[in-house]
Amino acid sequence: MSYVDEVLAKVQAKNASEPEFLQAVEEVLESIRPVVDANEELYRKEAILERITEPDRQFKFRVSWVDDQGQVQVNTGYRVQFNNAIGPYKGGLRLHPSVYLGIIKFLGFEQIFKNSLTGLPIGGGKGGSDFDPKGKSDREVMAFCQSFMTELSKYIGADMDVPAGDIGTGAREIGYMFGQYKRITGLYEGVLTGKGLTYGGSLARTEATGYGLIYITEELMKCHGHEMAGKTCVVSGSGNVAIYAIQKAQQLGAKVVTCSDSTGWIYDPEGIDVALLKEVKEVKRARLTEYAAARPSAEYHEGRGVWAVKCDIALPCATQNELLLDDAKALVENGVTAVCEGANMPTTLDATKYLQENGVLFIPGKAANAGGVATSALEMSQNSERLSWTFEEVDSKLNQIMVNIYHNIDEAAKRYDKEGDYVAGANIAGFEKVVDAMIAQGVC
Ligand code: NDP
Repeated sequence: MSYVDEVLAKVQAKNASEPEFLQAVEEVLESIRPVVDANEELYRKEAILERITEPDRQFKFRVSWVDDQGQVQVNTGYRVQFNNAIGPYKGGLRLHPSVYLGIIKFLGFEQIFKNSLTGLPIGGGKGGSDFDPKGKSDREVMAFCQSFMTELSKYIGADMDVPAGDIGTGAREIGYMFGQYKRITGLYEGVLTGKGLTYGGSLARTEATGYGLIYITEELMKCHGHEMAGKTCVVSGSGNVAIYAIQKAQQLGAKVVTCSDSTGWIYDPEGIDVALLKEVKEVKRARLTEYAAARPSAEYHEGRGVWAVKCDIALPCATQNELLLDDAKALVENGVTAVCEGANMPTTLDATKYLQENGVLFIPGKAANAGGVATSALEMSQNSERLSWTFEEVDSKLNQIMVNIYHNIDEAAKRYDKEGDYVAGANIAGFEKVVDAMIAQGVC
């Protein structure tokens, strides 16, 4: 049995109840096969694959807080510190009822390779809770965040582990958590990224994941003889990543005709009105029905459906496993040119395979959404030097990082005779750097 198959079997046996984690491990290990085969003896001796699929450590803790009725509520908090071979653990905090250890491990594992691809010194980690911020008052969200950070503060630090936002964790939650960290430790340090601009946040961090997604999509299109201008895009989600992807795509002359949330989706043939979408989602924290009510050109549909809309570029920006095999078939049928993932693992393995086999240009999330964490690393640099860079400075560094990522994954794929397979390219390029650092640092 090959080393990859042996380790896959071990990981499957050990983590049988965590399908999302298994899916992520399978995707990575399958696509780095050529690298592993070429170095099998060394990697076996060093147990590289066993070590890289086992988190350095994982914390699970109770989060008790009091709701507005005076009732004590209990949630579970997690932090998985996966791998710090190339820098302090770095990765967001997801607040969503679906969160359990398997989701955090899948995201932490992906984060190792994504962070490596940015070219910046950051390791992989992830955390979160099954707490649902939806429908909670500000005071309840603060009570949860303070209790969550009271426990989490024991395990993190500016040079050790630096969490950030993710689904359900935006500027408000990061603010409450930063306040509590400072209160407990007395330290004013860059322990979280995605902070507000008045207390150490970086300009362009809010926009970074969505903008970065469009910068890499633009480079991909350019290198294949296409322009963004005039293209029709479909986007899923209507959160942080989706909003700024829509904004940047439209700035570059594309037309984005859809967005969605967990209850329904919008088709707006005149192009999504970003100012209105921001008002509905960022200010009112309301449902997309409010967007449709305020916009005569828009249709609202219950359930899911954005992938059935004819487009040139599809950008899944909501959550994992939201683009299934039938969706991939519909996209191909409608002549899609490129699919680039804004969310983490939004496309299932069979859908990814189908898109690639049918000539669709496909960039996986660990490369395409790396602009968020890259800009978080730029926020860490600014915090360390106690300086703030201008929006233009950060945005231009972000653009350069995304262009570099594209060429880096393209080159890695070509090196292993997999030209155009950006899944393999991203995994190989991310993996090589981390493994090099692990071997150099000895058994740990
Ligand atoms: P937000 O919480 O801001 O938005 C998430 C969006 O996805 C919302 O529109 C939400 O709808 C929808 N959504 C969430 N869960 C589901 C679900 N189970 N089914 C259908 N729709 C769902 O999160 P972000 O925009 O920050 O994150 C989106 C994705 O991008 C995630 O996969 C995240 O891990 C990834 N990502 C985010 C980064 C960042 O910087 N923010 C960086 C890199 C990756 P509703 O409001 O109804 O819940």
